[in-house]
Amino acid sequence: MKIAILSRNKKLYSTNSLYEAGIRRGHDVRVIDYLRCHMEITSLRPSIYLGDEKLSGFDAVIPRIGATYTFFGCAVVRQFEMMGVYSVNESVAISRSRDKLRSLQLLARRGIGLPVTTFAHDPRATEQIIKHVGGAPVVIKLLEGTQGVGVVLAETKKAAESVIEAFRGLNANILAQEFIKEAGGADIRCFVVGGKVVAAIKRQGKDGEFRSNLHRGGSASIVRITPEERSTATRAAKIMGLNVAGVDLLRSNHGPVVMEVNSSPGLEGIETATGKDVAGMIIELIEKHSDKSTESKTRTRGKG
Ligand code: ADP
Ligand code: MG
Repeated sequence: MKIAILSRNKKLYSTNSLYEAGIRRGHDVRVIDYLRCHMEITSLRPSIYLGDEKLSGFDAVIPRIGATYTFFGCAVVRQFEMMGVYSVNESVAISRSRDKLRSLQLLARRGIGLPVTTFAHDPRATEQIIKHVGGAPVVIKLLEGTQGVGVVLAETKKAAESVIEAFRGLNANILAQEFIKEAGGADIRCFVVGGKVVAAIKRQGKDGEFRSNLHRGGSASIVRITPEERSTATRAAKIMGLNVAGVDLLRSNHGPVVMEVNSSPGLEGIETATGKDVAGMIIELIEKHSDKSTESKTRTRGKG
């Protein structure tokens, strides 16, 4: 099959791992920098160009869209979908997952356990939103942050108010969340491929850090997850409409709570810690699903 990996950089671990896995399984794989693509929208035959080259003949795309380029990246993915190309994750699902509030609302509606979360626009609501999540300590997050940037732990009510005011001053959208202290600076990353958790790791923040992101110096180790964690992760991915997802859970006193669902989860931490060929499983998913008879059932394909 002819597979395109939509990624800005061939040398990134995840991109390279997917590329190698595709080649190993006998496919024709190409890494395409989606920011260099342009699209022709007006004709009946939607098309995508990379410079002068018209991109055609692809059976599947693997989107690895950076958080900074969600808008344009998703438009490229959508264009491929409209050309009838199978996308491992659909554009609608990717844009959903990039908005933390929207994701939490979708998950809450379906009864997924979440940390108590509040969201407000009016600065006069600051006191109430802190109160609603149980008072300080409280976690404050930028709605579109990633890799732990824009996630702050405010230890006192005063600190929480200052942080909220500072973010507001920047006109940023934020949410406040109950701090799950008992998680001990660790979270569980469940890697879901095609409706199954294929690998899981525990990420532990470095000393004195409540954020467990590997980009913030956290370390990964292999972990056994409970059946409840497994079903929470697969349900969360399904609700988001993601075939490939990194579902992050916190182990709270009231069971697993979902913190976020990632649509371009990194492969380095998970493959290194577990020794599993996760990239190979993603290619295998394409092999199964590109077959039209088992086409994705999320009903958002090619839609706005
Ligand atoms: P990002 O998208 O930037 O990774 P997250 O929402 O995943 O943002 O938060 C980053 C990290 O902060 C998480 O991996 C987790 O370790 C920690 N964290 C986030 N929210 C909470 C919370 N409510 N309680 C405890 N720890 C949290
Ligand atoms: Mg995270």
